[in-house]
Amino acid sequence: MLDARFPGVPVYVPRADLHSAIVSSALLASAGLTDQILDDRGRVSGAIHTPIREFIRELAPARRTELYRAVLAKCAALGIVAVHENAAPGIDTPEGLAELIDMTSSPESGLPQVVGYLGMLVRSVEQVEELRAQVPGLAGLAGDLSVDGSFGSHSAALREPYTDAPDTIGTLHLSAQEIEQHLAACSDAGMTAGFHVIGDRALDTVLEAVTSLVERDPSYVSKLRRCGHRLEHVELADEVSRTELAKYGFMVSVQPAFDAHWGAPGGMYEQRLGSERLRATSPIRDFTRDGIPMGFGSDSPVTAIDPWGGVAAAVFHSNPEQRISARAAFKAHTRGGWRLGGESNFMAGEIRVGAPAHLAVWRAEELGVQAENDGRSSWTTDGRSGSPLLPILSQDGNRPQCLATLRAGIFIYDDLGN
Ligand SMILES: [Zn+2]
Repeated sequence: MLDARFPGVPVYVPRADLHSAIVSSALLASAGLTDQILDDRGRVSGAIHTPIREFIRELAPARRTELYRAVLAKCAALGIVAVHENAAPGIDTPEGLAELIDMTSSPESGLPQVVGYLGMLVRSVEQVEELRAQVPGLAGLAGDLSVDGSFGSHSAALREPYTDAPDTIGTLHLSAQEIEQHLAACSDAGMTAGFHVIGDRALDTVLEAVTSLVERDPSYVSKLRRCGHRLEHVELADEVSRTELAKYGFMVSVQPAFDAHWGAPGGMYEQRLGSERLRATSPIRDFTRDGIPMGFGSDSPVTAIDPWGGVAAAVFHSNPEQRISARAAFKAHTRGGWRLGGESNFMAGEIRVGAPAHLAVWRAEELGVQAENDGRSSWTTDGRSGSPLLPILSQDGNRPQCLATLRAGIFIYDDLGN
């Protein structure tokens, strides 16, 4: 269809989750590939997708820098002081990540801070040190280091087959052994490790690696906890798995917007997973209750960069059992992010004496205490408790408007005329 509509034109059409794409014959030809690489659904996915993504992302260095600045300026205008960037082969180069970290290292840059992760697998401390030297300020060998794919592309690794594709249980890109080596090398080097994990079988594989590692050498229990390894997405985590995550000090980076987009009854997740598994997806209230440090993200460009949208999606989770209070969601999107990013000042993300002056100024229509979870709020709604009020959010729309953003006391966005 692409060839008929766009004869001779290289066309790349990624799925919204970026875990698979369809491409025209002209694009394959320019990338030096043939249609042999297409899977049985006519898509490029998995390992073969990476060289194609690299091919379409070839940019002149000046253009690349311009794009970095544009997206960071947009983030600042949205009240964002720090961006967690997940670079990986097929997304960006180690040199690109090094440039991003360097150009934003000081608040005087006028840009948000970049907390940079590189999704590259290592086997040894030496390899960790090489990458640390190549990307000064690297926050972790984590992020889009994919253990599996996505629900949308039928590639998230599941224990049981997909409801709408009974012939598949998804794809594992890494073995438990590879994950174990990566965790061991990073823990030994004092580097945060982490993985993209969506399905329950992918999480099982990570936990199998952890179990094997600590059985082999119990000293890794404390090493793992000290490094604060982080997992992206973690959309299916049962109670046993969550207990293990908490035990070894794992932190989770979750995307409430995924639930808002695809988690509603009748939506894509229910088609893929069926109604029973749907109820287990995006267990953000369970993470909160089990004491697993949690931060929120957009996974942009998968969903739009929209911090208040993330808070609203958590407050109005499609599964009422998993709704959290606006305050808990706000903390996950502020303090939680700094904690996941390894910020040493434990007060970062709060407004109090001694905390860095990372601030955003908002215009909000109405302030109040909001919880849509039938009184299950985890904090007191008593005004005497001194808890600050937050903007009242509707399920869609009605977001506070950012007027200014300050990083360490310096304006990086200013619509107030300062
Ligand atoms: Zn991911």
